[in-house]
Amino acid sequence: MNAPTSLPVSMPIPGHIDPVPVPRPVTPREDGRTDLIGLPRPQIATLFQDAGLDAKAAKLRAKQVFHWLYHRGVTEFEAMTDIAKTMRPWLAERFVIGRPDVVEAQVSTDGTRKWLLRTADGHDFEMVFIPDADRGTLCVSSQVGCTLNCRFCHTGTMKLVRNLTPGEIVGQVMLARDALGEWPKGSMASAADDLDLDEDEGSYTADGRLLTNIVMMGMGEPLYNFDNVRDALKLVMDGDGLALSKRRITLSTAGVVPMMARAGEEIGVNLAVSLHAVTKDVRDEIVPINRKFGLEELLQACADYPGASNARRITFEYVMLKDRNDSDDDARELVRLIKQYKLPAKVNLIPFNPWPGAPYECSTPERVKRFAEIVFEAGISAPVRTPRGRDIDAACGQLKTAAERRSRAEMDRLVAEKQAALG
Ligand code: SAH
Repeated sequence: MNAPTSLPVSMPIPGHIDPVPVPRPVTPREDGRTDLIGLPRPQIATLFQDAGLDAKAAKLRAKQVFHWLYHRGVTEFEAMTDIAKTMRPWLAERFVIGRPDVVEAQVSTDGTRKWLLRTADGHDFEMVFIPDADRGTLCVSSQVGCTLNCRFCHTGTMKLVRNLTPGEIVGQVMLARDALGEWPKGSMASAADDLDLDEDEGSYTADGRLLTNIVMMGMGEPLYNFDNVRDALKLVMDGDGLALSKRRITLSTAGVVPMMARAGEEIGVNLAVSLHAVTKDVRDEIVPINRKFGLEELLQACADYPGASNARRITFEYVMLKDRNDSDDDARELVRLIKQYKLPAKVNLIPFNPWPGAPYECSTPERVKRFAEIVFEAGISAPVRTPRGRDIDAACGQLKTAAERRSRAEMDRLVAEKQAALG
C-alpha cells in the first residue's frame, strides 16, 4: 500500500470539486404502468382519480393500497384482500409495486449482509445490513455513484450515474424487510370504512425486530438528492407506512451546508457529519467539498441544526488515516472546535477501511486509542467503530458496484506495482 506521507499535498484531485449534479431523468417503464412505490398517499389518490375513480373512492382506495404497500409489504395487488376482486386486476393493469432487483446477496463472516441492487433502468447500487446485539442497522444509498471524490472513499472513485428516486430509496428498506421476513402479519381490517389502523410508531421498534435503525450512509451524498431522500424518509417515518421513528434514522452528509437547515426542518432525523479533518489544508485534500463549504461554515450549520440537543447529538465521523489526520494536535483541535461552537457532539472514530489502490493507510491501533483518549478526556464520547463486513467489501467507504470494480487479478497487480514502486 502507498505511504500517505509520500502524497504531495497540492496534488490535484480528480473530478469536479463543486458538483451540481443534474438529476438525470428516470427512464419511464416500457409497459406504461406507473410504479406506486415512493409516491405520497395524496398522489396515489390523484392517480386513481385520473384513472377513472371518483374522488371519494380514489381517496379510500389510496389509503387501503398505501397500507398494504408500506405496512404489510405486499408485492401484488392480488394480495390486497379488502379490495374488491374485480378491482385488483384493474389496479394491476395500470400500476406496479416496484422493488429494486436483487442481483447478488452476500453475507460476511461477522453477519453483515450486502445486497447488490439494480434499478428498473439497469443501474447498480448497494445496500448493507449490520446486525448487532441490540439493534440492526440498514445502510441505505441515495445515489448511484457519487460526485464528492473524497480521497479515502472507494465510492468516490465512481462517477455519479444518477440520483435514486424516492421509490428506489424507500425500496431498499422494503427489500430489507422482505429479506429479513419482518412485515407485520396480523389481519387487515376487512371493512373499507374501518381503516383507522394507525399504529404507534414505537410498536415497531421494541418487539424484537432485526431492522431497527436506518443510516443514510450508503453510496452518494443524500443532501445532493434532497427532495428524493426527504420524500423517501417521510414514507419510512409515516405511522401508517414503515413507521420507523425519526430518532432511529441518521442522515450523513459530507457537508452540503446550504441544505443542512432544511434537512433538520423538513426531515428532522439525526445528523451525522463526515468531518475527518480539523484543518483547512487536510480537509480540502481529503474531503474536497470543503473547498466549497469550509470548516467554519460547516460547524456553524451544525450549531444551528434544528433539533440537535444533548439528548440528540450530532455525530462527527472521523476516519483514522495514518499520519494524515491522526495526531495528538488533531485530536486537541477537534475538541477545541466542538467546544468553540458549543456543539452537542459525539465523535465516531472509524478505522480506515482499505481498498485496492487507496492512497492512505489506517492509523495504528495505538494511535487510534490515544486519539480517542484525548477526545474522551475532554468529555466528548469518542467510540472507535469496529469495522463490519470488510471481507465482502461492505464496510464504510468500500461500496463500489461490481460493474465498476476491477477484477481481483487486476487489483492484485495494481497493489503489487505500488509496493514495488515504494521499494
Ligand atoms: N456522502 C455522505 C454519506 C456517505 S456516509 C457522507 O459523506 O457523509 C459514508 C461514511 O463512510 C462517510 O463518513 C465516509 O467518509 C466514510 N468512509 C468513506 N470511505 C471510508 C473508508 N475507506 N474507511 C472508513 N470510512 C470511510
